[in-house]
Order: sequence, then structure tokens, then C-alpha cells
Amino acid sequence: NTIVAIVGRPNVGKSTLFNRLSQKSKAIVIDVPGATRDRNYADCTWHGRRYTLIDTGGFEPASTETILIQMREQTHLAIEEADIIIFLMDGRDGLTPADIEIVQLLREGGKKVFYAVNKVDGPRHEGLLPEFYRLGVSRIHDISAQHGLGIDELMEDLSACLPEEAASAGEEGEEEDRIRIALIGKPNVGKSSLLNKILGYERTIANPTPGTTRDAIDTPFEFDGHRYLLIDTAGIRKKSRISLSLEKYSVIQALKTLDRCDIALLLIDAEEGITDQDTKIAGLAFEKGRAVIIVVNKWDLVAKDNSTVGRYVRDIKDRLKFMDFSPIIFVSALSGQRVTRIFALVQEVYRQYTTRISTGELNRKVMEIVSKNPPPQYQQKAHPFNYVTQVSIKPPTFAFFVGKPAEIHFSYERYLINSLREALGFTTVPIRLVFRRKH
Ligand code: GDP
Repeated sequence: NTIVAIVGRPNVGKSTLFNRLSQKSKAIVIDVPGATRDRNYADCTWHGRRYTLIDTGGFEPASTETILIQMREQTHLAIEEADIIIFLMDGRDGLTPADIEIVQLLREGGKKVFYAVNKVDGPRHEGLLPEFYRLGVSRIHDISAQHGLGIDELMEDLSACLPEEAASAGEEGEEEDRIRIALIGKPNVGKSSLLNKILGYERTIANPTPGTTRDAIDTPFEFDGHRYLLIDTAGIRKKSRISLSLEKYSVIQALKTLDRCDIALLLIDAEEGITDQDTKIAGLAFEKGRAVIIVVNKWDLVAKDNSTVGRYVRDIKDRLKFMDFSPIIFVSALSGQRVTRIFALVQEVYRQYTTRISTGELNRKVMEIVSKNPPPQYQQKAHPFNYVTQVSIKPPTFAFFVGKPAEIHFSYERYLINSLREALGFTTVPIRLVFRRKH
């Protein structure tokens, strides 16, 4: 999963470029109660090559002083976390001192950078370009994000740096038999502490020298006779030098690992309780269809009585309604309390996440569910589903063949999902339904 970050001063057109590039792709919009709507991340493709696009802008600071600080943070974040950077400048403003400073940082950062001058909306603006060559950069793309000019050329160059689809699929294939686990959560919830605790149980580490490079390192390990792979252990251990962007940093880290894991352990700080940032990261995991186990860490720091667990569970399920089926476990990465029990949960969640239901059983169950509560427009007629079949696992996905897919109302889909979850034993994992026109 290649991360491409757009960096640039406020108002140079970062969001416009972001929107243009992500137009036809599904932007990751966390549209769940309690989570702020966020359009800064999108999974995109360019001629079949996939990448995740990030607009590092976020907010536009008021004074020039904060702009520079914010710009430096943004740039450091991109250098640390992105694989490829698009540095965007503004042709109308000309080359500014801030641009020159950022270019210097980018050069030192050693990542692949593409330079683009925006707002070159037609031939009459072409005179804007020469001064940018003072930067000493060999190729500067003139583009108009708003009018879509020069975008193809920029992306043609950039996509040459994106991996071809087949390569990454091959990589994933090698560790097919291991359950792939990611640790996600905001900074300081205890991800690296938990990682160390887990690997501390390990007697025979299959690969004894993980974490020697900065790039993603996965650590295989065994516990109780089962084989696992911890995704991006280098990323978990790595402490960011960035202060202001730490929150964003954990979102990018989650984005990078969620594509590659089966099960995400979402850490929540017991002392703080569940926060907006937790909700946001959980929302990403949900959008990506991952199975999630909610790990409430630092349980040792909480003063407890009979109602404490119940209160936490209610609070979490309330904030994370969209994944209220995810199991919750209370641990202390520090003392090790209940840490090994995470693996019993992982086993059960993984079993459900990879369960295949036979078409016969599935159709019998769907019949029962539908006849109990037929969709409103089908009260009198035969029910609308000709045929249902499971089309994939991880997450379990069921295709409903139906006369008019558009007629299935969102709330009825909800009913189907909840009933199927119960009837088929998918009690801890997300399931998905797709409605297809019957042939
Ligand atoms: P990360 O940023 O998510 O990797 O968090 P760290 O693993 O670096 O932990 C952040 C801080 O929380 C460190 O000072 C840890 O010692 C502390 N910490 C982590 N887990 C626990 C826990 O279960 N109990 C207590 N009391 N402290 C913890």
C-alpha cells in the first residue's frame, strides 16, 4: 500500500488536487456518529496501480508564523510516513520563501518528490513557470487542479513509481497460513508496550532480526501452537519526532497497516476513556472491512468497582455503534494482565472472519429471516431474493440476487445484516451484503 502525500502552503490547491485525483475513487469518509467527517484520505488508482492519497493540509492556520511551523510539521510527517510526495506550489503567488525552505527539507528527506506548480490554467499563464526553475529541480509540472490540466502528465510520471498489482499480491501470499495482526491506536496508548509483551512470550522467533530498516517489517511469532504475523512492527516501535501531527500520524499508520492485516487490535487508553481520535481510527478499520478486537489498555491504572467494566463496555459500544459486535478485552501491557487471553479471542474472531457458509444453509436461513419480516413492498408477493451466496471471506460477504437492487432499503439491509449475523454465528466480525441484479 503506497502512501502518496500532497504537501504545500495553504491555498495552493491541495484539496482541489486531492479531490480531482480521488474523484472516481472511494474517498475514505468516516461518516459515523461521533467521528468528524474527514476527506483527507482516499484509496485511489491510476491505470490499475493503487495508492493511498493523503492531503496533509487539514486546517489553514491564520498567522504567517504558524503557517511556517505547520508547514514544517506537515513536511516532516510526509517525509516520515509517505512513500511519494507531491509538493504543490502556486503559480499566481510565484516562488515564495516558504516554498524554498520546504524544498530544502524535502531534499534532505530523501523521499521521492514530484514538484508541481498549480493554477496554471491556460497558455497565458505559462510565463509563471520559469522562476520556479530557480529551485534547481529538474522537472516541474505545471498543472491546473481545478481545470484538470497537466494532471495526466504528472500522474504518468508518478505512477511509474507505484508498484504493479501483481508484486504486492505475491508478497502477501507467502505468509498465507499466519493470522495477520495489526496494532492500531493513537500515540501513547501502549502499542509498543503490548508488542514487547507479546514478543516477550515468544521462545522461537522465526526471524530473529526484525526492525533493521525503516520500512515495514512484519514479525512472525507463535503462541500456543498457532502461527501469527504482527504487521509493521518497525512502525509500532518507531517514535515519531513530530509533535503537532502525532494524532494524524497514528491515522496514517493505521491506514498503512489496515490493508495488510486480518485482525486489528484497536488499543484504547483506559485512563482517558474512548476519544474522538479512537473513533476515527476505528472508523477506518470498519471502512476497510477488518475484524477488530478492542483492547482497553492500562487497566492497572483504573480504580475499579463492580460497575466499572459495564460502564466501559457501554461507553465503547455507544461511541463505536458501527462495530458494537467487536469483542472488548481489558488488559495491562505493563503487567501482562490478560494479554495472553487476547489470542483466544483472535482465534475465535479469525474463525468467524474466515467462515464459509454453504449456499444451501444460507438460503434456508435467509428464507426464515425474510418470511419473519418481509421488505415493506413485498408483503403480499414472494420475497425479492432469488438466490443468496457467499462471495468472499475477510470479511464474509454475501451476494443477494434481486430483481431491483435499488429497492432494498438501507434499514432493511440493516435488518438482514443483524439477523444473518445472529443466525450464522458471525457474532464478532463485520459482514457485508451486496445486492446484484438477477440474471
Ligand atoms: P505507543 O505510542 O502506543 O507505542 O505507546 P507506548 O507503548 O510507548 O506506551 C506509552 C506509555 O504508556 C509508556 O510510558 C508506557 O510505559 C505506558 N504504558 C503502556 N501500557 C501500559 C499499561 O498497561 N499500564 C500502564 N500503567 N502504563 C502503560
